[in-house]
Amino acid sequence: LDPEEFRKQGYMVIDFLAEYYKSIEKYPVRSQVEAGYLRKKLPVSAPNDPVSMETILADIQTDIVPGLTHWQSPNYFAYFPSSGSTAGLLGETLASGFNVVGFNWISSPASTELESIVMDWLAEMLSLPKSFTFSGGGGGVMMGTTCEAILTTITAARDGLLDKIGRHNINKLVVYGSDQTHCSFFKSAKIAGISPANFRTIKTTKANAFSLRGDSLRATIEADVNAGLIPLFLVATVGTTSTAAVDAVGPLCDVAKEYNMWVHVDAAYAGNGCICPELRHMIDGVEKADSFSFNAHKWFLTTLDCCCLFVKDPNALVRCLSTNPEYLKNKATDTNQVVDYKDWQLTLSRRFRSLKMWMVIRSYGVDFLRNFLRSHVGMAIYFEKMVVKDTRFEIVVPRSFALVCFRLSGSAVLECSGQKFLEEETLNEINTELLESVNSDGKIYMTHSLVDGIFMIRFAVGATLTEIHHVTYAWKVVQEHATALLARLSM
Ligand code: PLP
Repeated sequence: LDPEEFRKQGYMVIDFLAEYYKSIEKYPVRSQVEAGYLRKKLPVSAPNDPVSMETILADIQTDIVPGLTHWQSPNYFAYFPSSGSTAGLLGETLASGFNVVGFNWISSPASTELESIVMDWLAEMLSLPKSFTFSGGGGGVMMGTTCEAILTTITAARDGLLDKIGRHNINKLVVYGSDQTHCSFFKSAKIAGISPANFRTIKTTKANAFSLRGDSLRATIEADVNAGLIPLFLVATVGTTSTAAVDAVGPLCDVAKEYNMWVHVDAAYAGNGCICPELRHMIDGVEKADSFSFNAHKWFLTTLDCCCLFVKDPNALVRCLSTNPEYLKNKATDTNQVVDYKDWQLTLSRRFRSLKMWMVIRSYGVDFLRNFLRSHVGMAIYFEKMVVKDTRFEIVVPRSFALVCFRLSGSAVLECSGQKFLEEETLNEINTELLESVNSDGKIYMTHSLVDGIFMIRFAVGATLTEIHHVTYAWKVVQEHATALLARLSM
């Protein structure tokens, strides 16, 4: 690693990225390539001789960029977006530049200490109870993804309970979520050795905006307990993936606590928004939960990856996940005065994620971050109003945070087709066709969900570069495709 060569190539890469961002709107948002396109372009074997950075960047432009779906495009409204920023990106660059592996405190004290401090800052921004902070006996840790956060907590909960009741009871342990809970929960439960027969996906209804309620949880738990099973873990979601529904965290915790269960609040997307005081009530009740996580890489100007997990009892993680081989022994650990994050997570080696988050918070400040989130919610409200105004469409569930779920309505389809009756399935197919036709021309990108048999198009505002005129444009694109589709149906 020659510093002068690094400087030269570094400038080239930054220039390349600056140009990319400058011209990002010229690319089709969803990649238009066919599966396997890259194998046809690249050599079968790795090159024996070095290739210059100029050549590599030129190849990136011709071979890689066409295969990218442009998550940072202002016309990106799919899934939950991933908000990048100058500070986040350069923070990531610095962290990679230092390339420290902070598994324990001594391996890179700044990495551990900055993480603990930033997690406490975040807890304060979110008005989390003191019990989730280091001074209150809890604390926070940064992981790659929510999957890791849930797997970590479920594993700790499992071991805590099995230590009391005996490991032979593992097949009696039951985990609970709703039919809207992210699939990562059940994947984690499976990896943690919970029998798939004991996964409960409690049904939610449209009438309750697909939110999980305490009474349905209680009924499900009681049936399990009566059958001799043992409740272990509940995931309450604030901002579900399909519709950003919000589970009733407080009442769910009240029920779960009667059965000594571990409650994790998964606010992967919406937790970011909860730094705004006017949205904070969405996580009311979190003080009764055992753990809480959100993905800063979704909506906090912090590049992938950065899942922030807060726990009330870090020792529950440490008891289950700590390792102490000779080659990692050191005096600082022996004093018990330092955090060794390797014992709070699944992996040993870990990235210096807090650096980018620290740079984001310092570069922009809390007020700006709140206003950034508010502007996205405002743009979603604006989009929602345009949908409501066009009687051919309907809002499927009330907007939540910056996500609008909508579709072409059955009455619009009936009117143009002249038919008297329309199956729900046919309406779903028509909306699928609408979404595919919108996405296939690459001007904007949205994705869908299917909830309670209803296919809906999700419009998620969250890309950093999105401005109000992009939202107006997106709606125009949707309307044009809808007009063309309805005209076809009327023929
Ligand atoms: N939970 C919710 C509510 C999500 O929306 C998502 C992803 O969108 C996840 C969990 C999974 O997050 P990750 O990819 O970080 O594991």
